[in-house]
Amino acid sequence: MRRLFQLKRNLSILNDDLPGIPANRPAARIIPRAEHSISRNAISPNALRVLYRLREAGYEAFLVGGCVRDLLIGITPKDFDIATSALPEEVKRTFRNCRLIGRRFRLAHVFFGREIIEVATFRATSSPVDEPIESTIPDLDDDEVLEDDELLDDDEADESTVLAEAGSHRTGIHAVTPLVERDRSRHAGAGDDDDEDRVTDEHGRILRDNAYGTIDDDVWRRDFTANALYYNIADFSIWDYAGGVEDIQARRLKLIGDPVTRYREDPVRMLRAARFEAKLGFSLDGETGSSIPELRSLLASVPPARLFDETLKLFLTGHGAMSLVVLQQHGLLGELLPTVAAYLDKHPEGAVARLLRQGLLNTDQRVAQGKPVTPTFLFALLLYGPIAEIIEKQPQEKWHDIGTIVDAVDRAARGAQGRISIPKRFSLGVREMFAAQPRLEQPRGRRALRMLEQPRFRAGFDLLLLRADMGLASRELADWWTKVQEVSQPDREALADALGGQRREGEGAAGGRRGPRRRRRRGRGRAPAAT
Ligand code: ATP
Ligand code: MG
Repeated sequence: MRRLFQLKRNLSILNDDLPGIPANRPAARIIPRAEHSISRNAISPNALRVLYRLREAGYEAFLVGGCVRDLLIGITPKDFDIATSALPEEVKRTFRNCRLIGRRFRLAHVFFGREIIEVATFRATSSPVDEPIESTIPDLDDDEVLEDDELLDDDEADESTVLAEAGSHRTGIHAVTPLVERDRSRHAGAGDDDDEDRVTDEHGRILRDNAYGTIDDDVWRRDFTANALYYNIADFSIWDYAGGVEDIQARRLKLIGDPVTRYREDPVRMLRAARFEAKLGFSLDGETGSSIPELRSLLASVPPARLFDETLKLFLTGHGAMSLVVLQQHGLLGELLPTVAAYLDKHPEGAVARLLRQGLLNTDQRVAQGKPVTPTFLFALLLYGPIAEIIEKQPQEKWHDIGTIVDAVDRAARGAQGRISIPKRFSLGVREMFAAQPRLEQPRGRRALRMLEQPRFRAGFDLLLLRADMGLASRELADWWTKVQEVSQPDREALADALGGQRREGEGAAGGRRGPRRRRRRGRGRAPAAT
């Protein structure tokens, strides 16, 4: 084993001239247990089990990344990542409940019921840790996007997927699989030419990077100093190579190495910077913040599936409302969702902007309460403006047709596919939510009660409530639907019967009064919203 470490150390010399890695690598500042605040009580017992077992098997084992950062700040980590000297196959042999994932670069997942502890072998170069080759969102297919000619009848659309708890990226949101395959120390001579190990595109983006290393290699490929702290299970000390502890104390987010180079290597780091700014309330240090405007267009070269994953992490992990603010401040929303950004620029204080902000706050609250959240609802909020804009380009008499609404949802969803790929099941869910609006707004007698049984009723109803809050739908009807759900079946029917005879006035697409109601026709309703 010692020989192997030596070998890896020797190999790491090869990487000294890589960007992001200081020529004279500083040694770690080792902070003993007595001088930091991380208690084992705050660490997941399963993560501790994995750490101890690796150590007993003779390997180095550290907690690393966001969990160490969060523990130091005093917030509950959303998951625990481990970095080790054990090679993936060795990790697999050490744990029965372990699976290796990743087509090229292998990571070990150790399973404990719902909790998954991710164990990564130390890596030698500064490739993006999170570079995805495939998405791990169940059944997610890159080509699962809306095609032009696909227009299902709205009853056919079925979005049954509910994302597992937000914040638990292992159970749904996380869809990243680092690159890298070959362990050079084990396959010496098998093509271990350094040039071959690291491939970048013309912008400097790392496309392939494959070498395992030691902890003092591993640290320099990490993104921010605050994310590059290691908690050593051997003596409970913290290893800080990059000044992360000081930066956390100063609430500062600072890229390791030269920011321009590090953003070029992996433009997603700009979105990660925005995410941590929103999540932690840190400010972006110097060029970590100031170089974003000149480099943000590089996000165009990132695979859309990865941008979709990042979008979910930005908006569905408990700080979505703040993520929107921060993304707009850095001009990053336009790189991710250009049509949404353009709409919000045009109508910054309109009802739709308020609806989006309120919807994101509600989502954050659900995450805080441990309730499930769905990408479908998120995209309904985000696309509301572009959808309304498309509807309003139609002649006004068509605004309330379900066909117009469904068509607008599909076009808005396709418009958003430019940068991120929204899996079809989510865009179909959005379509259903919007198609439900006119029906919810024109309940007809007892037949209306059938809507309660539809799988997407709840999401459609939540959207109606939000619209009513913003003056985009009738408050009275939103209250009616709330009440209908709370009462017994006979009372429900009575409510429906009472409603059957009523005539109501409603709001138009722009949320204003439309005047006396026209005769209702089947398949007609009100437009879902607008400016
Ligand atoms: P959180 O889990 O709270 O979202 P995190 O910092 O743990 O935050 P992860 O995406 O779980 O973020 O990544 C774990 C660690 O891997 C990070 O802390 C960082 O050290 C490293 N990392 C992740 N993505 C990248 C990247 N694109 N470039 C460099 N390092 C990265
Ligand atoms: Mg993490």
